Amino acid sequence: MNIVLLGAPGSGKGTMAQKLTGELNIPQISTGDIFRKNLREETPLGLQVKDILNSGGLVPDEITIEIVRNRLAEADCANGYILDGFPRSIVQAKALDSFQNIDFAINLDVDKQTIVSRLSGRRFCPNCSGTFHVSTLENTTVCPVCGGTLIIRKDDSEETVLERFRVYETTTLPLIEYYKAQGKLVTVDGTGGIDVVYRRIMDVLHK
Ligand code: AMP
Repeated sequence: MNIVLLGAPGSGKGTMAQKLTGELNIPQISTGDIFRKNLREETPLGLQVKDILNSGGLVPDEITIEIVRNRLAEADCANGYILDGFPRSIVQAKALDSFQNIDFAINLDVDKQTIVSRLSGRRFCPNCSGTFHVSTLENTTVCPVCGGTLIIRKDDSEETVLERFRVYETTTLPLIEYYKAQGKLVTVDGTGGIDVVYRRIMDVLHK
């Protein structure tokens, strides 16, 4: 099954993708994680995208599309994958359609107020890419999954969050209509606890 996860920054795409990848046994492909890994390792790509990521803008389509095209050609994607954070523009979606066949686009629907609260309390593990909320961490900075040290993502600062929203609304939101027109859009209420939202997604996939 080839799945695209859509939704605003902080709508829970990464968290849901991580749960889905375990149950469906297909990989999670997160373009954000790929860029952050390159940034940490200071690769040429990492240096190229550093300022863009830190300001909340989008990496140019040509670069992102090529990375995804190569990643999806790897053997572990043969039985399907979950795309988390790609496509983010109509240009990217059209490119994806030219080399892959998408089965579903799942849109996680979350109101703006919930998202701001989620992002401001978000903690990220650079070691296992886990994402957590301070309200569940009991004052620790130790990753509950792998023991790594949790950080606040640079792009979760207030200024960057607002810019990411602006970019989402202008560039990414039109993808909802794009996938609706193809009959592939599934909208899921993304508010509530992780397990509740996850169950909603599984119910839809089982139908
Ligand atoms: P994310 O973890 O999905 O929120 O992505 C973090 C950042 O990586 C974004 O704010 C963008 O700067 C960049 N990025 C991730 N995915 C894409 C994409 N599909 N196109 C362009 N830039 C992206």
